[in-house]
Amino acid sequence: MTIQKHQFDAVIVGGGGAGLRASLQLAEAGVKVAVLSKVFPTRSHTVAAQGGIAAALGNVSGDNWLWHMYDTIKGSDYLGDQDAIEFMCRNAAKAIIELEHFGMPFDRLENGKIFQRPFGGMTQNYGEKPISRTCAVADRTGHAMLHTLYQRNIRANTQFFVEWFALDLVRDADGDVLGVIALEIETGDIHILQAKTTLLATGGGGRIFQASTNAFINTGDGLGMASRAGLPLQDMEFWQFHPTGVLHAGVLITEGVRGEGGYLVNSNGERFMERYAPNAKDLASRDVVSRAIATEIKEGRGIGKNKDAVYLKLDHLGEELISKRLPGIREIAKTFANVDPVENPIPVVPTAHYMMGGVPTNLDGQVVEYSAGTEKTVKGLYAVGECACVSVHGANRLGSNSLLDLVVFGKAAGDKMVGEIARTTAHKALPADAADMTLARIARLEGRKAGERVAEVGAAMRKAMQTHCGVFRFPDLLEQGVTVINEVAERAQHIEISDKSKVFNTARVEALELDNLIEVASATMHAANNRTESRGAHAREDFSGRDDDKWLSHSLYYKNDHKLIYKPVRLQPLTVEPFVPKARTY
Ligand SMILES: Cc1cc2nc3c(=O)[nH]c(=O)nc-3n(C[C@H](O)[C@H](O)[C@H](O)COP(=O)(O)OP(=O)(O)OC[C@H]3O[C@@H](n4cnc5c(N)ncnc54)[C@H](O)[C@@H]3O)c2cc1C
Repeated sequence: MTIQKHQFDAVIVGGGGAGLRASLQLAEAGVKVAVLSKVFPTRSHTVAAQGGIAAALGNVSGDNWLWHMYDTIKGSDYLGDQDAIEFMCRNAAKAIIELEHFGMPFDRLENGKIFQRPFGGMTQNYGEKPISRTCAVADRTGHAMLHTLYQRNIRANTQFFVEWFALDLVRDADGDVLGVIALEIETGDIHILQAKTTLLATGGGGRIFQASTNAFINTGDGLGMASRAGLPLQDMEFWQFHPTGVLHAGVLITEGVRGEGGYLVNSNGERFMERYAPNAKDLASRDVVSRAIATEIKEGRGIGKNKDAVYLKLDHLGEELISKRLPGIREIAKTFANVDPVENPIPVVPTAHYMMGGVPTNLDGQVVEYSAGTEKTVKGLYAVGECACVSVHGANRLGSNSLLDLVVFGKAAGDKMVGEIARTTAHKALPADAADMTLARIARLEGRKAGERVAEVGAAMRKAMQTHCGVFRFPDLLEQGVTVINEVAERAQHIEISDKSKVFNTARVEALELDNLIEVASATMHAANNRTESRGAHAREDFSGRDDDKWLSHSLYYKNDHKLIYKPVRLQPLTVEPFVPKARTY
């Protein structure tokens, strides 16, 4: 097979919010930048973000970025790195104003300032009471943000490679990253995109679970690529289950509904969050609310025939507010739950939503490796957005902090890449065997007689994750889960795709996506089994408390031998006093 080669200053894998914010920074600096996306950029999962983007603008009531920083650290259950969190919260207001100047049509208050709504875990004065900090465009904030960034990129002449599927990183013997190998989906051709700097912005991998709010494209490809290139994956045991996915459908109902005054009730009609979080109630952090719902269901107070959900009630908000601030939610409830929320409550369950872990990076988005107490950057490689772990979300992300993470660190990485490109005069030579491993991975899919099928192996993986690694985690289930996921990974080595299903290479892409999903699932299961404490979204039945003496550290998972090592959390912020870990209540 002939491989076509192309050269760029920067190659960005991913056209979601993170990729497009970084590419804009590069294109506007006059750098030759290519963005690869396996779907049309504006179909990236960022488009589905509903509730909003956080920043301490103080438009509704007084606010302070330090309060936002405190909330984020507490939300992370003290696993987030305090320097990164300070960087994000300090730069948040600037990032919002910048988006507004790019043309993002934020909702407005009567006085013309940007509208802000309350969101879970966002508080005034270090936890006193909920605050309105989340800027929004109705319940379609990600849609507005992604389209704004895409249009700015068109204006800045970013070059797009649409429906190109990145397969692997090119990494040479020095460990430097020299670009990516990609499949052009329409033709099946293989290309090498050589670059002085490469950025992974491939989004999350929420499709490892059976019930997920994530799009089908969220298959953790960047994590698979990094893992196969010998790089670690950080904090993969931490997955956020969103409290309000529509029962059976998995589609998200934004926390903005509770921000606007909606609340949860059990089969007795009781507003049960008052018992679990007396202060913040329905606006407690997501891990807390999801555990409360799971407990209500477990103890027999679920609603419906199978008692396997609770109700999200918002009819008391009135039709006018619902139509103005939550129009998309009304549509989703009608389509997926067959209820009009203006009149009836929506049946909801905790649903896999967000990957706190990812490829470890520093504050400039540079991918880092860690050994013997020191961190070293991987030359030429960057990661931003949900696929990265910087880590601002720690063990549990606060809603509306992810969109912020994309634009703040997307810009920072873009700036750093511009500098590195300016210092790099020529492209480094590609190793002769650059594509060998990738070509072998594709070749193995062809021509088996009795191979495994993608759909069946994928279903086994999703079932394993749902059963063995859900909202609550049990020691025996975790242990069995490791065996099951190892078996699933072995089966995935024997996938076969039939000639009939090779039309447009979609079957090939699905099989290659499964490779990446399995990397994400394996990392998750092994890291979850090994962490013997409960912190944030990782809730173990046998170790129910947080253990700061032993576990105030990030896990780093390596594909080889499923090795796990740990590095300490960075508790020192950039300029302010550290927030000392303490008990976390809402
Ligand atoms: C339903 C939903 C609602 C949400 N609501 C909010 C919210 O209100 N506020 C908030 O802060 N967060 C929210 N989140 C989280 C947030 O939207 C995501 O974390 C964020 O948008 C991820 O952005 P990203 O740029 O990292 O990745 P994505 O937007 O997922 O983009 C990934 C990109 O990578 C490309 N890609 C992936 N693999 C490959 C490959 N192999 N080759 C080529 N291209 C590839 C894709 O084509 C895509 O362009 C929500 C998430 C979901 C699922």
